[in-house]
Amino acid sequence: MLSVSDAENIIFNLVQPLNTQQDTELVDLLSTGDALLGLSPWSYSFAAARSADRILASEVTSQLDFPHWDNSAMDGYAVRYEDVYNCNEHKPAVLEIVEEIPAGVQPKSTIQSGQAARIFTGAVMPAGTDTVVMQERTRREGNRVIILTAPKLQEFVRKRGMYYRAGKQLLPSGILLKASEIAVLAAFQCTQLKVFRRPRVAIFSTGDELVTPDKPLQPGQIVDSNRYALATLIRQSGAEPIMLGIVKDKPEALKEAIAYAIAHADIVISSGGVSVGDYDYVEQILESLGGKIHVRDIATKPGKPLTVATFENDVRPIVYFGLPGNPVAALVTFWRFVQPAIKKLSGLAQGWEPVYIKALARQELCSGGKRETYVWGQLSVKNGVYEFQPAGGLQNSGNLINLAQTNGLAVLPVGTTLIAAKEQVQVLQIES
Ligand code: AMP
Ligand code: MG
Repeated sequence: MLSVSDAENIIFNLVQPLNTQQDTELVDLLSTGDALLGLSPWSYSFAAARSADRILASEVTSQLDFPHWDNSAMDGYAVRYEDVYNCNEHKPAVLEIVEEIPAGVQPKSTIQSGQAARIFTGAVMPAGTDTVVMQERTRREGNRVIILTAPKLQEFVRKRGMYYRAGKQLLPSGILLKASEIAVLAAFQCTQLKVFRRPRVAIFSTGDELVTPDKPLQPGQIVDSNRYALATLIRQSGAEPIMLGIVKDKPEALKEAIAYAIAHADIVISSGGVSVGDYDYVEQILESLGGKIHVRDIATKPGKPLTVATFENDVRPIVYFGLPGNPVAALVTFWRFVQPAIKKLSGLAQGWEPVYIKALARQELCSGGKRETYVWGQLSVKNGVYEFQPAGGLQNSGNLINLAQTNGLAVLPVGTTLIAAKEQVQVLQIES
């Protein structure tokens, strides 16, 4: 049985990220609807759908400076610093206003000594000026402005290129496009982007007892809940699930499903059939199809049986995860090992690893101490401090019911049998 850290090293090293040449596609920054229709409320409903949550597959540079022009950061007056540098309340500078420049307008005049331009936030600085005096520090008299306080040189001027110089890297490859990145890309008119294609993750459930939720239950049957939970998590991890249904505990059926899955996906996930029962065939079939088994079981609770195998491929190995069938064990092993693997494969340069948060246990947490134990429950913040509340009822890998609302797995390392209430515990954060 592998330790968690050995298993984690093996698994995360098996996964090779998508390739910046072959595994990319071009997407529009926004949807076509926005470009054609303008920002109507209707087009908002799918605005940003194309590029949001995608991962950049090449760095972005621009030939534009930002700001694009010297412009004012205030409503006030654009002046020549030399005209106002030593003025004060008793000795104000008096300047003639020769132009008014709202945002979006190209200034017409060159400001001479003794002159100023009325200017508004975001408006282009007129030639001859270098400084803005905010309107609160002035008094207006007809077409003259009285400057009562000396500004600093270049005060309230956003200089062209002060935030970004054309030709430099604007955004690096391998980052997830969220609202702030989309704002940057829109500002620079990057309307088409090279992103990684979504990883393809084939998924099927094994078990003669399984049925889909729409079928009446016959004695002994249970609903295949794992597949729906896992498909949701696959989507949330940025991948595209390929749903291959329920496969019977028959070697031929399993062989056919696995062969199809490895030919069509980057990662394959099955649940069930990886224990030591008479109907647990997955491992022998993986080997018969040329798979190399890297992991059989890991010292975790829940989730001990986890099969990880690879199939060689021209580009990168296809990684197979045979998850345990018990619903909690299936999800815990997904969160702990599979989700980071999918995110690494998807091209994310950073932040694909599991995230742990230190929290105070609200109740005592127990473990047998022999395997790394995950207690599922809820992570919340109280007075700025994270707290962890274990899910009520039995913590049993078949107890699907108290898994609802889980957003954290408290970790009890090997050798720890008890974490008392109010003590600190590491909690694996779960996006669910
Ligand atoms: P197995 O790993 O195939 O021995 O299954 C372990 C337990 O999990 C059994 O009680 C199964 O009925 C249950 N189980 C297996 N697959 C699923 C599934 N897809 N959805 C819900 N429960 C499952
Ligand atoms: Mg089974």
